[in-house]
Amino acid sequence: MAHFPQTGAALLSLVVVAGPAVLGLLAGLYICRPSPYFLATAIALTAAILGCDGWIIAHRHWIAGGLALPAQIACLIFLDGYAASPLPAPAPLSDLLPSASPPAGMALFALPTGMNRRTAAFAYRGGSPWEKRDFVLAAVLVRHPKGDVVIDTGLGKTIVSQLRQAPCLFRLGTNLERSRTAADQLDAAGYDRKHLRYILLTHAHWDRVSGAPDFPGVPVLVTVAERQFIGEGGWATTTAQGVNAAAFQEYTFDGGAYLGFTHSRDLYDDGSIVIVPAPGHTPGSVIVFVTLPGDARFAFIGDLVWRFEGFLERNPLPWFEAKTIGEDPVAFRQTLLQVSAIATRYPQITIVPAHDPRGYAGIPEWSRSTLR
Ligand SMILES: [Zn+2]
Repeated sequence: MAHFPQTGAALLSLVVVAGPAVLGLLAGLYICRPSPYFLATAIALTAAILGCDGWIIAHRHWIAGGLALPAQIACLIFLDGYAASPLPAPAPLSDLLPSASPPAGMALFALPTGMNRRTAAFAYRGGSPWEKRDFVLAAVLVRHPKGDVVIDTGLGKTIVSQLRQAPCLFRLGTNLERSRTAADQLDAAGYDRKHLRYILLTHAHWDRVSGAPDFPGVPVLVTVAERQFIGEGGWATTTAQGVNAAAFQEYTFDGGAYLGFTHSRDLYDDGSIVIVPAPGHTPGSVIVFVTLPGDARFAFIGDLVWRFEGFLERNPLPWFEAKTIGEDPVAFRQTLLQVSAIATRYPQITIVPAHDPRGYAGIPEWSRSTLR
């Protein structure tokens, strides 16, 4: 019993010094996955830290206090990484809307494959941690007489085993609700796969490429930079590394400037599907501009931002998320400002962040009735 007061003081010191790191982790996890368990634990730990702070001050344990202060300040700085931090408005875009001659019969369909339950705070700086947001995980089918294209693939048939390869913390912070895969949706509607010419990735993260193995024999188009990114390894591209290497087909940007981007690739030389390099989220990320007959225009920007607010308010991803993903802040900033300028100059272009359900509102979902 004689040692109890010393043991108790040591425990209290541990709470104030190590507790803030655990609190930061819990806050990050809750923002990723708004589970009441994370929230309750974080609240209890906050109360414990504050209580122990009071005890240390009252008993003048200044050594413990001196160690606790930087730990708690670091926790506050970490949380500040979720505060709003909008980029300045970009210079106005002067480029004319590029001409396009989309062929008759061209059409666009969404293939939602699942949902990830997150918060607004996860999606962009300044988002509320109390506002739950559903992150769509979808593929998009572009029907084109020269060959259909699937932009990204959403969750595939082997997503469970793919996720087993992800780090433990990533799985802890991920709450997936799966629906039918893109391949299953197409097959169920009697889609003839011989029409499918390419899978086109906005980038090579797990939720873009998960369904690629469900389309054996279909080339997966990636930029040279993204192919290199996949080859460098790392957990972010583990799923892509599991795709048959022979499926990847690299392409370059042999076209001219497009809406402020210096290079482009016109996939079918008719202006209907134009790809531009948009590095930042990953080194070889791209934006895919799709123009349909009737001049309906879309820009699939992948994960440049996760929600509309990202480009409307020019608020980037929170510091922790951007760091974990390994974003290039300089390239990201340039690309985001470019997209922001396009959104301001040409509001008729529907900008589709990959995870924002609002982006897909004007795109019909694939169904049997869509087959002609
Ligand atoms: Zn991504």
